[in-house]
Amino acid sequence: MEVTFLGTGTSQGIPVIASDHPVCKSEDPKDKRLRVSVMVSWNNHNYIIDCGPDFRQQMLANNVQHIEGILFTHEHADHIMGMDDIRPFFFRQGDIPIYAHKRVLRSLQVKFDYIFATEDRYPGAPAVDAREVVNGKPIMLNGIEVIPVSARHNRLQVFGYRFKDFAYLTDVSAIEEEEVAKLHGVKVLVVNALRKEPHHSHFNLDEALAFVREVNPERAYFTHISAHMGFHEEVQKELPPNIYLAYDNLKINI
Ligand SMILES: [Zn+2]
Repeated sequence: MEVTFLGTGTSQGIPVIASDHPVCKSEDPKDKRLRVSVMVSWNNHNYIIDCGPDFRQQMLANNVQHIEGILFTHEHADHIMGMDDIRPFFFRQGDIPIYAHKRVLRSLQVKFDYIFATEDRYPGAPAVDAREVVNGKPIMLNGIEVIPVSARHNRLQVFGYRFKDFAYLTDVSAIEEEEVAKLHGVKVLVVNALRKEPHHSHFNLDEALAFVREVNPERAYFTHISAHMGFHEEVQKELPPNIYLAYDNLKINI
């Protein structure tokens, strides 16, 4: 299994428009972060987690030829606003399978009514094959069992996903013990770490480090990073040896 970090930035991306923050002015490519997303690939199958406003650019940057489905964590704009750009895949492949909590499916139906329309469809509009994700019910994706893991983004429920030895959780600020138990034994954990200061709806660096200690994977990668975290090169030096700041277009094998 191969995981490609398509984007590792917080909701505005880095650089932030019109920002004078030194990290936004950094020349280091690792300090440039598109909106958060990963691609999980095995046996020539590609699944994308979240489809934010940088989706088109992410597909081009990684020369992605086809996608077998999109899993959504939640309905915030930085995780869904690339949906219109599934068109090139839809034209080649037909309806694109999407997987999400029923609340998220409803939200997508409101925001992208023309994608979900059943009559009077606009010619050229993409279509999806929507499948509800229910906590406690694993999804089978081309031979791999994917376990939904429910967590909290302040008061909003979000799903993370475990693919065998790999788990991906983003936009988490709290998670219950029974959900953490679903992560036991993962070798590679990805989780959000926004910045060093506390935040109402995201783990900060200390909380993300504590979460990694609790899950105890072989390796962990942080994502959904804000400019306020600091320069990639400096923050990386402060982390324990098996914990990394992810960066855009990083590929890891599991
Ligand atoms: Zn987000």
